[in-house]
Amino acid sequence: MKASLIMIGTELTRGIIQDKNGPMISRELTHLGVHVSQLEILPDDGTIEAVLSLEISRSGLVIITGGLGPTTDDMTRRVIADASGHPLRRNEECWEHLLSDLGDRAYGANEKQALIPEGFSVIPNKNGTAPGFYGYAGDCLIISLPGPPRELEPMLYDTVLPLVRNKLDLPDAERDEYSSFITAEAKLEELYESIDPELDWGTRFQDFRISLYVSGKSRKERDAAIAKLRGMLGEGRIADGDTDPLSILIDTLKSHNATISVAESCSGGLASELLTDRPGSSVFMVGSVTSYAASAKEKVLNVPHHVIEEYGTVSHECARYMADGVRDIMGSDYSFSITGVAGPDEDEGKPVGTVYIGFSGKDLETKSVRLSFTSWGRSSIRRRSSVAAFILLSLYINGKDPEEIASAWAYI
Ligand code: ATP
Repeated sequence: MKASLIMIGTELTRGIIQDKNGPMISRELTHLGVHVSQLEILPDDGTIEAVLSLEISRSGLVIITGGLGPTTDDMTRRVIADASGHPLRRNEECWEHLLSDLGDRAYGANEKQALIPEGFSVIPNKNGTAPGFYGYAGDCLIISLPGPPRELEPMLYDTVLPLVRNKLDLPDAERDEYSSFITAEAKLEELYESIDPELDWGTRFQDFRISLYVSGKSRKERDAAIAKLRGMLGEGRIADGDTDPLSILIDTLKSHNATISVAESCSGGLASELLTDRPGSSVFMVGSVTSYAASAKEKVLNVPHHVIEEYGTVSHECARYMADGVRDIMGSDYSFSITGVAGPDEDEGKPVGTVYIGFSGKDLETKSVRLSFTSWGRSSIRRRSSVAAFILLSLYINGKDPEEIASAWAYI
């Protein structure tokens, strides 16, 4: 079975932007065992009309990306309607969705985005206004997706790949999924290639994790490769399945029926924001303090003046006092603290990216770890500090020593 991919966009044919959709879709279809025979990049000018008819006549699957927006040059939907012989009809589900998304901002032009060929089905788009759709032109399955990769990617994984497997009756490929934390995607690729280049590895960048897929060879060989990768990165850095450090922490807190509080400095409240963003967080989250200046750490969190004088605010000692202080004030079972240097203006005599995280727990020895993150800017250090705190607190609650674990972490 042959498949053709058509990427539409005048910015693509003029070389203003590079096509990201073609390689991503092609790689995933190849994994499924589909033979991708053609990738074509076409302008927004109607050239697609002739190309689509040809591809329908010789392929079992055609995926088209782009050209679904509300502007007049976005003609993909009309061309697909003509080629499949199904007139465009307003899909009420899409229209309701657009109205609820855009409210007063929904104009006549947006109405076009709710039109799909009659008999075609909708592919929901949770990151944009234009949904995708699929249906048949004769025996050929046509799938139309929006152009922006951040909209297309979740649609590809959530709907399109399962749909293709189902419609084309493809066997389930043996593919293991993991979630990797803190390591940069490029570093991860370098590491897994060095472990076993004959395995089929794939990554996908997601919120607070990089999904890692492994297929090929035997289960034993795949497990051995992942065990080796885990050993290279350190405990807590790769989890089974699709998950993220915050979900793991919340599950751990729930299973221990435990509460937490948080004291933050260089992370500026990000860890608390992420925790309180989760529905039902009031069950486990007691409170947080963002204490940026040394004086606030003293006054609010009771970090002794002499500790700050002697060790500074970016230190093991300060991190531990902050964690103990916030737990005392809030009366929670556990707490963590984050203090460090997130930017060059925070001159604490330590390099940018130096972060101390403290852990305090009822009936547990207070611990602290020092991490040296590669600096890719302030927000990256905030994000990675918060993620590291979530991972290490889960392990601390489960009786592990965060100091030992973090000292073995590599590539952060
Ligand atoms: P919308 O109008 O809702 O944004 P659309 O389906 O009409 O969606 P296009 O107008 O074709 O999409 O593209 C919108 C933007 O998405 C482009 O300007 C470009 O930045 C990005 N984009 C589209 N196609 C690709 C592609 N193949 N690779 C990388 N980026 C793309």
